[in-house]
Amino acid sequence: MLKVEHIGIAVKSLEQSIPLFEKLLNTSCYKTEEVSSENVNTAFFQKGETKIELLESTTEDGVINKYIDKKGEGIHHIAFDVEDIHAEMDRLKSEGFILLNEQPKNGADNKLVCFLHPKSTNSVLIELCQEKK
Ligand code: ZN
Repeated sequence: MLKVEHIGIAVKSLEQSIPLFEKLLNTSCYKTEEVSSENVNTAFFQKGETKIELLESTTEDGVINKYIDKKGEGIHHIAFDVEDIHAEMDRLKSEGFILLNEQPKNGADNKLVCFLHPKSTNSVLIELCQEKK
């Protein structure tokens, strides 16, 4: 793992949260992108090397809404940048971590991603992401 690539934050409404985070971070949202496979809309902010990703459900029963129903809005996941996602997935699997997908998936912001089950990571949802070349 190279560094924290971004921190994912679950929000009810991008429309309300984008201006809030623009004020908070004193920078403009540089991208919004729908990830239809995950039923989420995302919005990205860059601060130095690290990004903040806001996530909003596009459906009533989407994973982000389910998360908000249980835990409220807030930090949803931490994403680590990896050089070789397949190698890192193999390494973590052999260390006993549970992968939520067996193959990398297409994520937002031109990434291949894989999530680790929070049950194996002290309840922290971890995302691995590798820039698509
Ligand atoms: Zn993410």
